[in-house]
Amino acid sequence: MTLKIVLINPPVVKPSEPPAGIAKLAGCLKANGVSYQIIDANVEGIHYLLGQTAFENEWPDKWSKRACKNLEANIAALQNTETYKNKSRYSRAAQDVNRVLHLAGKPYGAHLTLSDFTNNMLAPARSADLLKAAQMPDNNPFYPYFSARLMAVMQDEPEFVGFSVNYLSQALCAFAMIGFIRNINPGIKIVLGGSLVTSWAALGVGKDKFAGFIDEMIAGAGEEKLLELLGVEYGHKKSSPDYDDFPAQFYFSPGFVLPYSASRGCYWRGCAFCPERAEENPYLPLSAAQINQELPQLVKKYQPALVHLLDNALSPVMLKNLAQHPPGASWYGFARVSKELTDDDFCLSLKKSGCVMLKLGIESGDQEVLDKLNKGINLEDASKALKALKKVGIAAYVYLLFGTPPEIEESAQKTLNFTVAHSDCIDFLNLAIFNLPVANDTAQNLQTENFYEGDLSLYRDFRHPAGWDRQNARNFLEKTFKKHPAVAPIIKRLPEFFTSNHAPFFKMI
Ligand code: SF4
Repeated sequence: MTLKIVLINPPVVKPSEPPAGIAKLAGCLKANGVSYQIIDANVEGIHYLLGQTAFENEWPDKWSKRACKNLEANIAALQNTETYKNKSRYSRAAQDVNRVLHLAGKPYGAHLTLSDFTNNMLAPARSADLLKAAQMPDNNPFYPYFSARLMAVMQDEPEFVGFSVNYLSQALCAFAMIGFIRNINPGIKIVLGGSLVTSWAALGVGKDKFAGFIDEMIAGAGEEKLLELLGVEYGHKKSSPDYDDFPAQFYFSPGFVLPYSASRGCYWRGCAFCPERAEENPYLPLSAAQINQELPQLVKKYQPALVHLLDNALSPVMLKNLAQHPPGASWYGFARVSKELTDDDFCLSLKKSGCVMLKLGIESGDQEVLDKLNKGINLEDASKALKALKKVGIAAYVYLLFGTPPEIEESAQKTLNFTVAHSDCIDFLNLAIFNLPVANDTAQNLQTENFYEGDLSLYRDFRHPAGWDRQNARNFLEKTFKKHPAVAPIIKRLPEFFTSNHAPFFKMI
């Protein structure tokens, strides 16, 4: 049988788990009898670069020497649960592995980390730069890896090659790989999908922008559209994600992490300035029956150390279902503050079902700001939920957002006060400065400015109505918020580079 399609996860995303989108497509292709091959070029490429950099070079400074010498031990440490008992040991391992990766990117003018990829000369949000990356694939640090890997896979003469691009940090490498394929075999059809591509499509960006390199762009859920493109009838619609062909031993986690989406979109979709609202993505949950059958089966098959629920927000209905039908392994995911979470017994039932951590978007400690953002939560409930989670032993990973249009300095101070008052219940903090999505219905009253990154930028600049601009918000964060003695230890707890992907492991020991 000739190879119909190769599905590629391009670098760079956190290499802690396999990509869920490609696993979903793989399950669908397998169920429908289509020949395919998977390449997790992210984790393969990172291992390749680390190995080459550590063993083929002599570095002058002490840190680089130590990081190269201990590379294998440090990778093994990140894959060992014991390391997660000692944050200093973990930090040293993560920073040293990252140091080696950083060295690999240097000769190419690239800033390469375990969670990001940027280039001094090329911006991933500028289509002209993506085309440049495609025209000069050998200017990419992953070139030595992907040129050999793609050459080998081309022996099987695939008709299509699909790239799943979910983050901006993948875009330049994806286009470098696309350019390489075009050079060696111009006849192969190149398909681009993934959530970043879905966001581009919502901006009106189509394949014409990348003429000569991209044959098809798929926005949204890819299964049906991909089969249509491949000329295959969508006979078997109910397929589970398939992780058989991913290199499980390569991932930088202490045990296999099984990503699983129980829904697409967001059941709330109300928060002003959220891309989910701006892009009007529909909420498409799987049925409880499907989840209850599929998830335990996947757990049985892959024996994961942890299930990562990828939903934008697990609805109360979904949480109740998980409590009643535990997946059979520890799990974590995003939830909204709801009345249910303020109830000790409900939280206990989640804990018993395997929940080790919930990510909660609380955003602000000022109720007025939350109301103006249409967040749909109140601080009283947030306070009760944090206390209930603490009581039953579920870690809280709290997201806060600074510099939103309704925020002023006094509001930011209230956020600090709220955080300090709940510092014993907050295990991890994600602190972000607000970005204004391009397609936004609530931005009408704001004075907006030109795109600051490029024609593919999902965000734009705006003039803060009260003068509390990004710089002010950033100063407050760095000089006041992070320095507070009750907050600083929470920030220190955050796993370097892997953040929420590794945070649950610190709570499972
Ligand atoms: S809950 Fe999260 S995903 Fe849903 S609208 Fe709000 S910010 Fe967006």
